[in-house]
Amino acid sequence: MPSEFGLIQRYFTRPPADGVLLGVGDDAALLAPPAGEVLAVTVDTLVAGRHFPLNTPPAAIAHKALAVNLSDLAAMGATPRWFLLALTLPDASDAFLSEFASALFALADEAGITLVGGDTTRGPLAISITAMGSVPAGQALRRSGARPGDGIYVSGTVGDAGLGLLQALQPGHASLSAFEAAFVRQRLDYPQPRLALGIALRGQATACLDISDGLAQDLGHILDASGVGAELDLQALPLSSALRTLPETQAWQLALAAGDDYELCFTAPPGFSPQALPGNVPVTRIGTVTAASGLVLTSRGVRVEHEFSGYQHF
Ligand SMILES: [Mg+2]
Repeated sequence: MPSEFGLIQRYFTRPPADGVLLGVGDDAALLAPPAGEVLAVTVDTLVAGRHFPLNTPPAAIAHKALAVNLSDLAAMGATPRWFLLALTLPDASDAFLSEFASALFALADEAGITLVGGDTTRGPLAISITAMGSVPAGQALRRSGARPGDGIYVSGTVGDAGLGLLQALQPGHASLSAFEAAFVRQRLDYPQPRLALGIALRGQATACLDISDGLAQDLGHILDASGVGAELDLQALPLSSALRTLPETQAWQLALAAGDDYELCFTAPPGFSPQALPGNVPVTRIGTVTAASGLVLTSRGVRVEHEFSGYQHF
């Protein structure tokens, strides 16, 4: 295994960037957020075999490790700034590292986030990224502001990553076309953080988070933090053509409980219009915040009694 210093030098040296007074190479980075902004900081760890299938290509692992952190910044309405990378590798293969680094920096450059430090260790493959963003003081999107009467919205489509994982574990489970099978695998391996949407929702959304553990469970976090309930219309769930090949109940199960979608779920007051949002990510209204606690599911005006539980970490 090349020395840690050699690895960092070869693959993880980056040009200087805004707000970085001192980057990779010293004991710690020195960073200065823009005046009037506060830092939003988040960390996520991906473990091989647990958070991605063992046959996942290095480019997809790198993309996802950074994307899930960027998604958390998007959910706060933060502008991405800097990140730290802790990489645990069984061995330091050049093939792995060059593919990993090029995918990592492709997404980092697209998102405008700069690597400012890291650590490498030998061990079972795991990637931990700490991402920092900034947001004008008082404008961060929290989970606690949903009010009765607010609309509930979700970006993109939900359940695709769950179907992608199902296909990876049980090929042929659903009868998907080659296009749809590739689409759901792409949604699993290459989630797209909704950064522009998160920033556009500053001052508009009353509560927001990203969907990592399943829409039902994650929306539940908004409801708990805000002290409210919700009514969701299952017919309104935005489903891709791949999801629509499944029986309705199975599609709902994936859409509500499978997780890994990294779409934004947010609430906004009655006057809010998603058509006025910039960008090309569709936003769909799926329900309404209620004063009564609990999550009520309806389909065609009829209440649906079904438990859709999300991903359990332990
Ligand atoms: Mg999150």
